[in-house]
Amino acid sequence: MLTSTRFTGSCLCGAVRYEVTGPLRDAVVCHCKMCRKSHGHIGAYTAAARDAFHLIESRDLKWYRSSGIARRGFCGKCGGTLFWDGTGRHTISIAAGTLDAPTGLRTVVQIYVESKGDYYDVDTAIPIRRA
Ligand SMILES: [Zn+2]
Ligand SMILES: [Zn+2]
Repeated sequence: MLTSTRFTGSCLCGAVRYEVTGPLRDAVVCHCKMCRKSHGHIGAYTAAARDAFHLIESRDLKWYRSSGIARRGFCGKCGGTLFWDGTGRHTISIAAGTLDAPTGLRTVVQIYVESKGDYYDVDTAIPIRRA
């Protein structure tokens, strides 16, 4: 984790932009079906405390309630997927690929490997957390 406490990020077109004024969690790769359907492949998420997360530009930010416990934020203009917002959580998850470099983050664990797609191999160098 970087000692820097300000990060910025955006979708592909820039119609959704945000900043984080605090530390970011290292990245978690998720193989679940919902992440794959949402991102087009596995999801890689960092997370920030809600009070450190600020939307700078949100004119095309849309929310999709993907399950009873969460909604997913995406750009209605370019289709970029950015956020996973779990109900009642004190953090918001941020798709790591939307951060501006350098992030200083590492991918530390992968989850829902049992739900992975059949078209790729799991990177065994990244620790697996079983449900
Ligand atoms: Zn966009
Ligand atoms: Zn997932």
